[in-house]
Amino acid sequence: MSTRIIPILNLLSGQLTSKLAADLATQPFPAKGLLTDTLARPLRDLRISVTDRCNFRCSYCMPSEVFNKNYAFLPQTSLLNFEEIARLARIFVAHGVEKIRLTGGEPLLRKNLEVLIEMLAKMTTVAGKPLDITLTTNASLLAKKAQSLKDAGLQRVTVSLDAMDDAIFRRMNDVDFPVADVLRGIEAANKVGLLPIKINMVVKRGTNDREILPMARHFRHTGNVLRLIEYMDVGATNGWRMDEVLPSAQVIESINAEFPVEPIDANYLGETAERWRYADGGGEIGVISSVTQAFCSDCNRARLSTEGKLFLCLFASQGHDLRALLRGNNNEIYSDDQIASAVGHIWHKRDDRYSELRAAMPADAQIGGEKKRVEMSYIGG
Ligand code: SF4
Repeated sequence: MSTRIIPILNLLSGQLTSKLAADLATQPFPAKGLLTDTLARPLRDLRISVTDRCNFRCSYCMPSEVFNKNYAFLPQTSLLNFEEIARLARIFVAHGVEKIRLTGGEPLLRKNLEVLIEMLAKMTTVAGKPLDITLTTNASLLAKKAQSLKDAGLQRVTVSLDAMDDAIFRRMNDVDFPVADVLRGIEAANKVGLLPIKINMVVKRGTNDREILPMARHFRHTGNVLRLIEYMDVGATNGWRMDEVLPSAQVIESINAEFPVEPIDANYLGETAERWRYADGGGEIGVISSVTQAFCSDCNRARLSTEGKLFLCLFASQGHDLRALLRGNNNEIYSDDQIASAVGHIWHKRDDRYSELRAAMPADAQIGGEKKRVEMSYIGG
């Protein structure tokens, strides 16, 4: 593999932080090769947001009081087109990315998404294996699209579903969307083999915690893996409060009381979910304890926003503008090697570990001063 060093003097001035631009001028970085950050964490997982729009208004992600008809979503021209996304994906894959997750907003709202999936499905990892390509969806369009997604090369899906009770779910998505239609989407994904399907449930104490057992009952023995996620303080608009977080330990305790469970090993280093299985063979469940048990020490995820900003943490307040490099700056055109070199340098400098820092601080303390964190609907979850 080439380790060519590309000087990127002035390449990023005005696009990234002035400190980074200064660093880049003096410390060129290899355009290819595996990367580690300041905490020795590799880059393995790239999450690409393909739209900042969603047809749901879940209060923990896109509350309707903020994301209403007056909200300025990104104009079409700001969005990375599929060629630009694929070009960046290739660069990230050459730096060690093995898994790509398409997110949003709601990714299935992006027109012709299958075309992008076909482009990604042709790529192979540094080790020559197929890329692991998946997608997180609210499943509102999944029944219609499952077959074409599968045909395009998508391997599996993660579906967000916060309750089995129709009234609670309609209230949580805030657009009156019925549970039955999500279940139809999951059924279609099962049928075409977008497997294994993961079902993500964000648990908010006092809102849907009584739905944990109905969800567990429904998805046991289906092969689909229910994952219960602690309600996180992502973004700046969801009015997060610590007392609305139900710790994963309590979630497991309540499931265990009805269906005994036992822990199982992680599939790979950096897996976000802690895995459990039903002792009676009913399958697997997972908990994602972002609030009570930070997993920053293994975090190998980068996030690319819809308009091409690279974020190094879900809780970041600032991204690095890769679109400016893709589209050129002051009539300068940047090569893949130059952009790859910039990506390498950015990852090499990464020191983000928001959840760990928050866990070590009083509940009402603010990390990063008054900086406004980016919204989850903008960079994907
Ligand atoms: S808080 Fe940031 S660094 Fe820590 S696990 Fe989450 S995304 Fe990774």
